[in-house]
Amino acid sequence: MNTETFDREWDVIVVGGGVSGVVAATAAARNNAATLLVEKDGSLGGTMTTCRVGPMMTFHSRTEQLIQGLPQEIVDRLIAMEASPGHILDTSGYVATITPFDSESLKLVAQRMVLESGAHLLLHTLTVDVETVDAAIKSVYVDANGQRSRLKARVVVDATGDADVAYQSGAPWELGRPSDNLVQPLSLMFKVKGWDKAAFTDYAVNHPEQLRLSAEGAQAYQREPLVAVAGFEQILQDALEAGEIPGLQREHVLFFNTHRPDEVTVNMSRIPEVNPLDAEELTQAEAVGREQVFNLMRFLRKHIPGFQNADVVAVGERVGVRESRRIVGEYVLTAEDVGAGRRFPDVIARSAYPIDIHARTPDEKDLDQAEFKDDFVSQGVTYEIPYRCLVPKAVDGLLVTGRCISATVDAHGATRVSPSCMAFGQAAGTAAALSVQDGVPPRDLDTDKLQRVLKHQGANLGQNAI
Ligand SMILES: Cc1cc2nc3c(=O)[nH]c(=O)nc-3n(C[C@H](O)[C@H](O)[C@H](O)COP(=O)(O)OP(=O)(O)OC[C@H]3O[C@@H](n4cnc5c(N)ncnc54)[C@H](O)[C@@H]3O)c2cc1C
Repeated sequence: MNTETFDREWDVIVVGGGVSGVVAATAAARNNAATLLVEKDGSLGGTMTTCRVGPMMTFHSRTEQLIQGLPQEIVDRLIAMEASPGHILDTSGYVATITPFDSESLKLVAQRMVLESGAHLLLHTLTVDVETVDAAIKSVYVDANGQRSRLKARVVVDATGDADVAYQSGAPWELGRPSDNLVQPLSLMFKVKGWDKAAFTDYAVNHPEQLRLSAEGAQAYQREPLVAVAGFEQILQDALEAGEIPGLQREHVLFFNTHRPDEVTVNMSRIPEVNPLDAEELTQAEAVGREQVFNLMRFLRKHIPGFQNADVVAVGERVGVRESRRIVGEYVLTAEDVGAGRRFPDVIARSAYPIDIHARTPDEKDLDQAEFKDDFVSQGVTYEIPYRCLVPKAVDGLLVTGRCISATVDAHGATRVSPSCMAFGQAAGTAAALSVQDGVPPRDLDTDKLQRVLKHQGANLGQNAI
């Protein structure tokens, strides 16, 4: 054991090495904080790698690239490795652009970003508890192979996705919708090789009525080497009624190219009414998801053009959790803020991803832009996320980033996607470093200064920021 890691006091400890934590640790270290990143898995990227989720969605409004800075550096590094084409048209028309990538390459890019920044990395280490003094975090307790150790930090960034550290420190949090605490359904994602894009394109231009399309129509499939496909509602419903995929409730077929034209990520498994904080329920969800994957593959091969000779080549190492704990922070972002494109003086990130809530029970429908009357994607409207959404109430020495920031359950449907989580990560890591340098709790940080540093380091905070 490296006693140096355990004996010293770190300026910043980031817990959780998903994309948000990777960016947070990199940002903290680049801003001269002695930084440690702690991750329970053996690789980085979290949901975007381990769970095989993709593409990144979205960096843009219809008119502007809203998310830049470190998240864009990740994309640039993937492009340089030929592991991503960069930002491309969303042929399904849901958002302006999507960013396909290779998940194994993202693990490598994430690792390089963290290590090159000078941050120290501790994998295979689960954070199990915290020490607080006068409601301020002083240490986190970690467990590796049954050995429990204490790690001291001046500021901790909770990037666990599930707000584990915030929970352990007694910060307030919420789960799911207020009426029944139900969260969005889980999905076991899988990757398929051998998809015949040419066969699909022939079909698409002759049967555009089967597809959800961008303004450029089915012809976009001929032009774009990599695509997103959504549609085939009736074909799927007929197959579900015929019992081809027992237990699945899903409204449409949905899959996306990775960085290769013959490879797609399928986002169709759906496991509703699971408590993502309960290991027994997660175990059941894994079992249900694995059955769904192979039934879905059979369905795709039988009914959907291009899949006739395709095969599953990878399944998420664990089931994907869209939503679990959300902290209650100094500000709680609302659906109205999102839909109205509200501006905040302490803006730290911007987005145009719409509210996207997958049906929580088998009897419900997906809630999206139409439901929330936030058809802002087509109008180019954008919304902002204030720094206060990263600052939990009641506990000091702690910032929260990623999908568990402070938002109502509806607003969370918009903020949960990976480009936004990365942008929050840059803000959280930078804020943690500045807070240590200035000797102030994150809650009292000068947000004008934070904005100046973020802008200098590439973030696009719009016209309102300092
Ligand atoms: C099925 C599904 C489909 C999605 N589709 C898209 C999409 O198409 N495009 C898109 O951009 N986004 C999509 N998302 C959302 C997006 O993937 C995630 O919300 C985002 O990646 C979350 O990043 P994060 O870093 O906040 O958290 P995570 O990726 O969850 O990372 C958290 C990390 O913390 C680690 N960790 C957790 N607890 C501890 C602990 N106690 N100690 C140490 N380590 C810990 C975990 O191992 C993990 O590596 C989807 C999500 C799901 C589940």
